[in-house]
Amino acid sequence: MDLQAQRRTLGDRLTRRIEAVLEHGGFIMGPEVAELENRLADFVGVRHAVTCSSGTDALLMALMAFGIGIDDAVFTTPFTFIATAEVIALLGATPVFVDVNSETFNMDPAQLERAVHALKFKDVSAYPLPLGAKRKDLRPRGVIPVDLFGLAADYEALNRVAQDHGLFVLEDAAQSFGAVYQNGKKCCALAEIAATSFFPAKPLGCYGDGGAVFTDNDNVAETICSIRIHGKGADKYDNVRIGLNGRLDTLQAAILLEKLEIFPQELERRQEIAERYTERLKDVVQTPRIPEGYRSAWAQYTIVSDQRFEIQKALQNRGIPSAVYYPKPLHLQGAFEFLGYKKGDFPVSERLSESVLSLPMHPYLQDDQVDSISETVCSVFH
Ligand SMILES: *Cc1c(COP(=O)(O)O)cnc(C)c1O
Repeated sequence: MDLQAQRRTLGDRLTRRIEAVLEHGGFIMGPEVAELENRLADFVGVRHAVTCSSGTDALLMALMAFGIGIDDAVFTTPFTFIATAEVIALLGATPVFVDVNSETFNMDPAQLERAVHALKFKDVSAYPLPLGAKRKDLRPRGVIPVDLFGLAADYEALNRVAQDHGLFVLEDAAQSFGAVYQNGKKCCALAEIAATSFFPAKPLGCYGDGGAVFTDNDNVAETICSIRIHGKGADKYDNVRIGLNGRLDTLQAAILLEKLEIFPQELERRQEIAERYTERLKDVVQTPRIPEGYRSAWAQYTIVSDQRFEIQKALQNRGIPSAVYYPKPLHLQGAFEFLGYKKGDFPVSERLSESVLSLPMHPYLQDDQVDSISETVCSVFH
């Protein structure tokens, strides 16, 4: 993200918003926080948006609201940022991985069905399961699909599988704020609860850490508001449950309110840039496939190629940054060694981790920059 170019576009309005907070001094839960929450809920089209300290805490608080703990299994993908599965383990629950689709990079609903079935019947030959899967008291409770690189997962199918098995669905929309699903619904509104992140490099980012939880459920929203402030009841010194210090700073809320103003135009520009890349690259590498009717938020523009190393080198030689998200799938990370997964368990995620490459993607790229990046990629192939 070119934060300096964005800063120039925002101009003095942003400075004035920040100064207003410095003047009124309500740094914790000041009026900008509620203002932002109303704007976010309207933008997404859900009843409640509860802002918080990060995308990780948004996921954590959502799981806490569902009472997730040691006897619970939660399904997610191994091809995501560590935070998605980390919060499951942090609560003492067991992450159960489900492989992704090779074109959308998102959780494969058919494999979710197989994994849930295997876990329910303690059948470790039916799908790769973590150590401890045979424990009698381990119950499947929920699913965290991830909208990777800004593209919604297939919620119609995922929600159906979850419903059949009595599981909740928590949408990890950390990368997909602003994206649209096939039915016209926005990301963050595609499951019974959703979490997003306002980390500076996400589609809508602040100038520090931030996040939000979205839900239509009044009781869940109330529980999350309580968890966010040390499990508060009637007031801050009435504590009815174990919670955290999970608030969003007022200053960050003020910054996000201004950034939200220009966000729709930024999304349009990301879409134009993605189309320009695809036009130029589709014959040499696997370009992102956006299913009919979907719109990505283009958190990343990610290509797949066996020549990844050569492409990366060529870009580097011309001073063009690129990045690999993610070089190691979660089931092979040291942090999750205790789950006992092994190489070969999730072949699509493993292959992608060896062949994906994310190119520069933000709304302030110029057409000629996109062209020269594309030419550099193509140069590897002749
Ligand atoms: C960034 C990210 C998170 C965590 O968000 P933070 O605000 O950095 O805590 C969680 N899940 C995914 C998929 C992410 O990309």
